[in-house]
Amino acid sequence: MDIITQAPRGTEDKLPSQIYKWHTVEKIAAQIAEAYGCKEIRTPTFEHTELFQRGVGGTTDVVQKEMYTFNDKKGRSISLKPEGTAGAVRASLENGLLNEALPLKLYYFTRCFRYEAPQSGRLREFNQFGVEIFGANSPLSDAEVICMVEDIFKFLKLENIRLEINSIGCPTCRAEYQKALKEYYQQYTDQLCDTCKERLEKNPMRLLDCKSEICHSFAEKAPIILDYLCDDCNKHFEGVKQALDDLKVKYTINPRIVRGLDYYTNTVFEFAADNCGAQGVVCGGGRYNGLVEEIGGKPTAGLGFAMGIERILMVMDAQNAEYEQPKECDLFIAGTDPDSSRYALTLVKQLREYGFWAECDVVGRSLKAQMKYADKIGARFSMVIGENEIKEGTAQLKNMQTGEKSVVTIGDKFAGAVNSILMGID
Ligand code: ATP
Ligand code: MG
Repeated sequence: MDIITQAPRGTEDKLPSQIYKWHTVEKIAAQIAEAYGCKEIRTPTFEHTELFQRGVGGTTDVVQKEMYTFNDKKGRSISLKPEGTAGAVRASLENGLLNEALPLKLYYFTRCFRYEAPQSGRLREFNQFGVEIFGANSPLSDAEVICMVEDIFKFLKLENIRLEINSIGCPTCRAEYQKALKEYYQQYTDQLCDTCKERLEKNPMRLLDCKSEICHSFAEKAPIILDYLCDDCNKHFEGVKQALDDLKVKYTINPRIVRGLDYYTNTVFEFAADNCGAQGVVCGGGRYNGLVEEIGGKPTAGLGFAMGIERILMVMDAQNAEYEQPKECDLFIAGTDPDSSRYALTLVKQLREYGFWAECDVVGRSLKAQMKYADKIGARFSMVIGENEIKEGTAQLKNMQTGEKSVVTIGDKFAGAVNSILMGID
C-alpha cells in the first residue's frame, strides 16, 4: 500500500460531488434542533484521556479498546474524541453554562474516532450529530428528545425507522438486576466470548450488548431489567411511554437495549434502519443523570442522543431520498480577447457580491473552449464580451436552456440590471 496516496484504513473522504448530501442532513438536523431550543456547541477534537475514562466509562469497549490515545510532547495523555457527550459536559462545566437558565440545550456536529474493525457503516473516523440537555428530569423531556430525533428523520423523509426504548433503571435497581444477570450467566461462563468473561465481573449488563453470535443467543433468555425497576424508575418509564403516546411517536419496548456507554440511567433508546451496511442502529441515546457529577459538577439531570451521519446517508441513498440539490453556476461571462476577459472579471465580481455563482475565463482559453467549459459546469446563463460590447455598454445575456436572449447594460450597474433575470423573475 502506498501510504501517501491512500487514506488511513477506516477513514473516508467526503468528496465535493457528494457534499450536498451532507449539507442537507446538517441543515435539517440543525433546524429541527433549533426549533427545540438547542444551541450549537463546538468542543475540541481531543481532550485529556481521563475525561473519557470518567465520562464514557473505563469498562466500555470504546475506552478499553477503541480510543486513539497518545502522549503529547509534554507527556500528557490525550485522546481523540470517541463521542461528543463527555466534551460537551466538560465544556458546560468549565464555562459555567450550567449556572444559566436550565434546561441547557446543546447540539453539535462532531467527528468521532474509534479504532474499530472497519466495515460498511463502521468507520474509524465518522461523524455524529448529537444533542445534550441538562437540568430536565421529567419524563416529558425524555419524550421531547426522542420526538426531536423522529422529527429529524421525518424531515429527511426517512422511512421504516424503528424506535426501540427501554429503561435501565437507577444504580439501586440496577444492582439487584446485575446480581440476577450474573447468576443467570454462571451456567454459560465457559462458552462466553473472552470479552464477556471479563464483562461478567465488571459490567454484566454489557453482555446483553455483545455482538458475538453465541453471547447474543444467551442474552435472549436472560432476566430483563424491567422486572427489577424500583417504583420511581417504573413511574418515570410509564411517564415517558405516555408522553410518547401523546406525541404519536411509535415505539417498541426492547428490554435488551443497554447502550454501550456507562453513563446511562433510566431511559435508553435506539433508532434502527435496514440498509445501513452491517449496522442497524442510526441513532442511540438516553438519560444519563449520573454523568455531570461524575465529571465533577453538581448532580444534574442529563439526556441526549447521537446519530451517525454516515449511516443516515447510507439509508437515505438506499431509499433514494431527496437531497437539496447543489447550486448551479448562474452565469459564465466569456471574453473574446485578454482585455475583455479582464473586464469580464470585474462584472463577475459584481455578481458574486450579489450572491450569484458567476464565472469567467481565468485560464486563457479560446472563446470556443470557454463556451465548452460553461456548458460543462452547467452554467444557466452565458454572455460574450468583446470590444464592441464594452464600447456600447451592452451585451446579450443568453439563457442556456431556452436559448432566449436579452440585452442588458454592462458597467457599474450590471449586477442590478441582470439580478431579476438570474433570479428567474420576469
Ligand atoms: P454500534 O453498536 O453500532 O457500535 P454504538 O453503540 O457504539 O454503535 P454510539 O456510541 O451510541 O454507537 O454512537 C451513536 C451513533 O454513532 C450510532 O448509533 C451510529 O449511528 C454511529 N456510530 C457509532 N460508531 C460508529 C462507527 N464506528 N462508524 C460509523 N458510525 C458509528
Ligand atoms: Mg460501537
